[in-house]
Amino acid sequence: MTDPLDEAGTVTGPMVRAWIEKSAGVLADNRAHLTELDGPIGDSDHGNNMDRGFKAVVEKLPAGDDIGALLKSVAMSLISKVGGAAGPLYGTMFLDGAKPLVGKTCLNGEDLAQFFDDAVAGVMKRGRSEAGMKTMLDALVPASEAFKAEIAKTDNIADALKAAAEAAKLGMEATIPMLAQRGRASYLGERSIGHQDPGATSSYLILQAFSDAIEETAK
Ligand code: ADP
Ligand code: MG
Repeated sequence: MTDPLDEAGTVTGPMVRAWIEKSAGVLADNRAHLTELDGPIGDSDHGNNMDRGFKAVVEKLPAGDDIGALLKSVAMSLISKVGGAAGPLYGTMFLDGAKPLVGKTCLNGEDLAQFFDDAVAGVMKRGRSEAGMKTMLDALVPASEAFKAEIAKTDNIADALKAAAEAAKLGMEATIPMLAQRGRASYLGERSIGHQDPGATSSYLILQAFSDAIEETAK
């Protein structure tokens, strides 16, 4: 199948904008759900944090198609508007992911693979965390791996984003039996077992929004 993106098979500035706007919509729709997940193993604010943060993100999104600048703006809004753990972590994710993309108005598979690598590494460093600790990384790490594997195989961005979203969903579900080792949930020790991590859930939603936004802009 040919890549149903722009003519060159790349992700453009308007597509990134569509992704961010779709993420804001999906996070608003899932505000109650995310807050509910943050009840038993947190402080019931994750839905509000993400919804408030992404509303600010959309409001402040700059004009223009420089993808690095767009994603840096996302990062700055999240860092300044979202309290708690998730704001700085998602902020770092977008900031570190954006750095090599400054000045680029379209991204190929290799650029996006680099974005995923840098974004995930940023969260790991900032959170002193890794996959398996019942955090957002349990969705982000398998998604990044799936994206890179699919790109290496097919060089098809739409397919690779679909694979990433599917891997994120499985990773999110896999947090249920995990013992939390970072964040508020870790204070609960064994009692954190049996609950889905709210941050892994918002990460899945953001990645699914990426895949959906690309599918839709390609039509
Ligand atoms: P807070 O825990 O400060 O109330 P949120 O509720 O908005 O912040 O976000 C909680 C989510 O943040 C968790 O579900 C988890 O996925 C993520 N998280 C917390 N600490 C870390 C960390 N050190 N590394 C990665 N993710 C983390
Ligand atoms: Mg919370």
